[in-house]
Amino acid sequence: MSLQFAFDNSYARLPGHFYSRIDPTPVRAPVLLALNHALCGTLGLDAQALSGSEGLAVLSGNAVPPGAEPLAQVYAGHQFGGWVPRLGDGRAVLLGELTGSDGQRWDLQLKGAGPTPYSRNGDGRAWMGPVLREYLVSEAMHALGIPTTRALAAVATGEAVLREMPLPGAVLTRVARSHIRVGTFQYFAAREDHDALQRLTSHVIARHYPEADGALGLLEAVVEAQARLIAKWMGVGFIHGVMNTDNMSVAGETIDYGPCAFMDAYDPMQVFSSIDHMGRYAYGRQPDVAVWNLAQLATALLPLMGERDAAVSRATEAVHRFPEVFGAAWLSEFRGKLGLERAEEEDGALISALLDRMASQGADFTNTFRALGHGTARAQFADPAAFDGWAEAWQARLAREGGTAETRVAAILSRNPGVIPRTHRIEAAIDAAVGGDMSPFETLHAALARPFEDDADLSRPPSEAEAVTQTFCG
Ligand code: AMP
Ligand code: MG
Ligand code: MG
Repeated sequence: MSLQFAFDNSYARLPGHFYSRIDPTPVRAPVLLALNHALCGTLGLDAQALSGSEGLAVLSGNAVPPGAEPLAQVYAGHQFGGWVPRLGDGRAVLLGELTGSDGQRWDLQLKGAGPTPYSRNGDGRAWMGPVLREYLVSEAMHALGIPTTRALAAVATGEAVLREMPLPGAVLTRVARSHIRVGTFQYFAAREDHDALQRLTSHVIARHYPEADGALGLLEAVVEAQARLIAKWMGVGFIHGVMNTDNMSVAGETIDYGPCAFMDAYDPMQVFSSIDHMGRYAYGRQPDVAVWNLAQLATALLPLMGERDAAVSRATEAVHRFPEVFGAAWLSEFRGKLGLERAEEEDGALISALLDRMASQGADFTNTFRALGHGTARAQFADPAAFDGWAEAWQARLAREGGTAETRVAAILSRNPGVIPRTHRIEAAIDAAVGGDMSPFETLHAALARPFEDDADLSRPPSEAEAVTQTFCG
C-alpha cells in the first residue's frame, strides 16, 4: 500500500476571498506521537504508509501531498460577546477534502502548521499540551456518540513554542465534516457581500443539509443540530469553555477544543477556562449561549431571506425553536440516564431533583449516574439520606417503566459512561508526553474508546491535590 489521498477540494473552488492559499510551514524534526488507525480506515488512508517517513512529512506540514490545495479560511466572530471583524485560521491550514468509505466528505486540516495571513500577533503554532488534549477529548466525545471533529494524528515538531516558557511544539491533524463556522457567515454579512453569503449558504446546504430550503431552511437545520448537540454535552457534563461564534460549527459538530473540560463534582455554574472571568460559558449557560450565537447566524442570513420585516419574524421564529428542541433532547438524554424510555409528565422534575441534590452535595457527575446502574449511588453523596429521599420516587417511576431489573440496569449502564477524560488525567498524560513517555496518553486513549465500561483507576475523581481548577487556551 502507498500513501495516496483522493482529494476533492470543494472549499478551494469557492471564490478567492473565502480564504488565503498558504502552505504549512515546515518543522525541524517531526516525530509521530499518535496515529488514529480506526479513523485512517474510515478515511480510506493506509495507516502503515501514514506512519512512515512520507506520511510523517505530510502530517507535520513538511510536504504537501499531490491533490492538496492548502489554505487558511477567513471568518469573523464574537469573542466573549465582542465583535471581531476578521479572525480566520491563524494557526491552521486546510489541506483539502477526502471522501471516506462511508461516502462522507471530510476536511483534513493541520492545526499548529505555522503562520497565515490571519495570525495577527500569534506564532501560528500549538504546543503539545493542547494538541494532545484535543486528541483525547475529541476522540472521547466520538466514542460517547457526540458529534465532533476527530483527531487523525499528533506529531511533535522538534521545535520549541514560546508561551510563558518554551514548550515542545506539535501539530494536530484534525478531521471534520467541515470547518465552516457561524463566524464564516458573519464575516461576509458584515461586509455586506451578499453574493459571497449566497455562495456560502449554497455550499453549506449542499454539503450538510441537502434537504434545507434556502437560507431560512439552513438556519432551521443549524438550530436543530446545535440544540441536539448541546443536550448531549449537558448529558456528559462537558464544558466547551470558549463558545465564541467563530468556535461554533454550522455542521453541528463540537469544534475547537481549547480550555474545555468534563466536570468532576456537579456544579451547574462550573467554569474552567482561565479567561472566562464572568462565567459566560459556564456549564449551565451553554444552551443560552448557543441561542445567542444562533441569533448572530440568523442576523447574518437575513439579507438572503427576502423582505426585511417578514425575514426578521421568520428568522426569530427559527431561533426561538431552540428551547423546544433542546428541551426535548435534554429530557430524552436524562431520561435515558435514569433508565427511562417512556415519557411521563413529571420526569423533568424528577431529573432536576436529582441534579439539585448532586449540586448541593458536590456529587461527582459521571460517577453518580454510573452508580445508578450499579446500585451504589447513595455512596456518592456526602449525606446519603439526600439520595434516599429521591431514590424512592425514582424506584416508583422505574416500576411503572416495566421490563426486568436486568434490562433496566443494562440500559442505565449503556447511557452513563464509566470513563471520561478527566482533566487531571489529561494533564498527567501531557506531563508524561512532554517528558517523552506516551504510555499514560495511550492508556487513557484506549480506555476512552470504550467509555461504557468500568475502570476503577480512571473513574477516580481527583483528590484535592490533583484537582485542576483552571484550563488554558494554549
Ligand atoms: P480560538 O478561540 O482558540 O479558537 O482562536 C481564536 C483565533 O485566534 C483564531 O483566529 C485562531 O486561529 C487564532 N489563534 C489562536 N492561537 C493562535 C496562534 N498561536 N497563532 C496564530 N493565531 C492563533
Ligand atoms: Mg484568497
Ligand atoms: Mg477557534
